[in-house]
Parts: sequence; C-alpha cells; structure tokens
Amino acid sequence: MTDPTPTLDDQHARVVVIGAGQAGLSVAWHLQRLGLVPGTDMIVLDRAPSTGGAWQFRWQALRLGAAHRVHDLPGMHEMGLRFDDADRARPARDVVGEYYRRFEQHHDLRVRRPVQVTSVERAGSGLCVSTRGADGTATRILADVVVNASGTWGTPFVPWYPGRDVFGGRQVDTTEYRSASAFAGQDVVVVGGGTSAIGFLLELDGVARSTRWFTRRPMMWSDGSALDVESAVGAVAEQDRAARAGEVLPSIVSGTGVPVSRRIRAGLDRGVLRDEPMFQRFDEDGVVTADGEHVHADAVIWATGFRADLRHLAPLHLRTAKGGVVVADGRSEDEPRLFLAGYGPQASTIGANRAGRRIARQVMAALDAS
Ligand code: FAD
Repeated sequence: MTDPTPTLDDQHARVVVIGAGQAGLSVAWHLQRLGLVPGTDMIVLDRAPSTGGAWQFRWQALRLGAAHRVHDLPGMHEMGLRFDDADRARPARDVVGEYYRRFEQHHDLRVRRPVQVTSVERAGSGLCVSTRGADGTATRILADVVVNASGTWGTPFVPWYPGRDVFGGRQVDTTEYRSASAFAGQDVVVVGGGTSAIGFLLELDGVARSTRWFTRRPMMWSDGSALDVESAVGAVAEQDRAARAGEVLPSIVSGTGVPVSRRIRAGLDRGVLRDEPMFQRFDEDGVVTADGEHVHADAVIWATGFRADLRHLAPLHLRTAKGGVVVADGRSEDEPRLFLAGYGPQASTIGANRAGRRIARQVMAALDAS
C-alpha cells in the first residue's frame, strides 16, 4: 500500500524534536527556558500512544531502581516530583508514564502523539520532517533544526546463530517479553549479559520448568565501589569515542559490569544466575552448548541489546562504512542542522538530562546563525 499524499500545509517550526522520552523532554524543557514556545516555535512529536518514552512498553515486573537509578527530569523538582520518592511496588512503566505526563502538562510542552516521523530530508536551508498520524494522515513540517531523540526501543538487536531458523520453539526479544507467566512450565534459554536478561531469569525462577543462561562474555559483577564509578566513566568515554568515530556503539554494561543488588545476590546464591559461554548452534528443539551438550528449549529469550533507532534519518545518508553515525557532543558532524539527544554517551537518564542542557544551547546558537 502506498502512503497517502502528504498534506502540504507547509507547517514551519524553528525546531522539531523527535521523541518524548527522557532525552527529548529534557531538550524541550531547556529550549522552552531559552525562549522557544512549544507548539509553535518548537514541535515535539512522539509515535507512542502515551507518555513515558520506552518505559511505557517495559514488562510488568520491572520496578524502578531494579537495574540503575532513574534520574529526575530537569524541572521535576519544582513540581515536587522525585523518582526516589515513587512507589517501588508499582511497575516502572506506570510510574514513569505518570511522572512524564504530569511533567508535560505542568510545563505545557504540547507533545503531539501518536505521530510517527517517517523521514527527515534536506529541504533548502532547513530539514523537512514527514510524519504520519494514527489515522494515516501524512503531514510535513519544515524545521530550521531537528533534534532526534528516538531512543533504541524500536530496534532490538538479535544476533545470528546457526540454526536459528530451524529451531521450532518460540523466540522473543526484550521488547516482546511481557511476563514470566507466558513461559510457565517451559524450558527456557535466556541469551544476553545485561540487566534485562538478569531480570528475566529472576522472574522465571519457579515459573519456568528450567532456565539456562548464555552470554557472549563471562559476566562481570561489580559491587558499587569507587572502582566501578571509574569503569562507568570509562564506558561512557568509550561510547563517546565510538560516536565520534561513526562506529556501531558498544554495549554499556560490557564496560561497567552489573552491580550486585540484594536480589541479584540471592539469585547468585540460589544458582539461578549461572552464566555459560554462548552456545554453538540451534537444532529443532533446543541448542547445542560449547561443550556439545544438547539443551532442550521450548523458548529462547534474546536479551541482546539494542541499536539506535535512526531509520527515519535514512534519507540524510549519515551512516558510515563502520555502521554508525558521526556524532560529536550531540551534533551530527555531517548534518549540522541535526542534533542527536540520548545517543551514545548520553544513553542513560542522567546522560539524557545533561544532553538536554548542552544540546539546547547549541540549538539556540544554530538558530541565531541561520
Ligand atoms: P526513549 O525512552 O526510548 O524515548 C524515545 C521516544 O522516541 C519514544 O517515546 C518513541 O516513541 C519515540 N520515537 C522513536 N522513533 C520515533 C519516530 N520515528 N517518530 C516519532 N517518535 C519516535 N537508564 C537509566 O538511567 N536507568 C535505568 O534504570 C534504566 N533501565 C533500563 C531498562 C531497560 C530494559 C532498558 C532497555 C533501558 C534502560 N535504561 C535505563 C536506559 C534508558 O532507556 C534510558 O536511560 C532512557 O530512558 C532513554 O531515554 P530516551 O529518551 O533516549 O529514549
């Protein structure tokens, strides 16, 4: 089916922000403080049906603080809101969705949703942002500057292993996982060395018949000491180096190790969190380990990370031969009217907050110069 003809109402905005997660909201709030009026000067678009960025789609059992701290958005404290005070018994997706909704309303950010950005193209001295609404209506907005804050949730990464197409069981990735009950009584293989894999294994314990855990590298556990802060800084620096070099971004946890919370300690002690080297291949009803053991599996859960979701930027031809996009301090090196918030070293809630201030200032300078 072809797209309907766009409504060429030639909307113009000085800035279009793509995505209303932590990164997009942080940039929008700073731009508002610097004088841009939401809804006219600055238009924020999000394809998701509700508030919360990617958090609204996370699985039921995930609680705030289960993995890392979730930092408050700038402008939240003046509303008396803090994630540290939130009810930890509620699913993180509900808490973050509610807090972001109150934030957007309080600051009157006028996010338009659900509006999917389908492409960004060069158009004269600006950029043309093509969108599609829930009813299929296509529109175009001409912007002087675009801030892309589209996150990674739309592009889960699943590596290829021999026989993956032969395996007859179910395969789901992190974005498709809803709750352990979908795997009740089953033999489940979990793949991946990050906090999502750990969360799934702990939740599946006692619900699935069996779990086996495979990781590409042996797990590195950290105890939250000063040394770990250094390794976290090192991991962010490595993200920055890769972004500036236009390389595919490395995984953050591969550089920092996973902090051992009380829940994880209990899982380690119970033997639920015993990682094994990546299996060699699939067969029809399971996987064959590095040692040649056949492991029966009804389902495989791929908790193998994400890639930046930049598909709508394809017309700008920013991809390098190394598979990434060249981004320095939140700005595209090859398209100076494009900023990327929450990308690479900014891909955490604290990084996204910092990005907000830095990118907003650069955006204002770019607008002054245009
Ligand atoms: P997102 O929250 O993904 O927001 C991007 C937004 O862009 C979405 O709302 C999406 O709908 C929209 N969008 C995307 N493409 C388009 C398009 N083409 N058109 C229109 N809209 C579009 N970080 C922490 O600091 N602490 C944690 O505890 C933590 N836990 C995590 C747990 C999991 C399972 C995962 C996967 C990540 C976690 N992170 C955590 C990292 C976290 O995702 C980031 O910190 C932060 O929430 C990302 O914010 P963002 O704004 O960059 O992206």
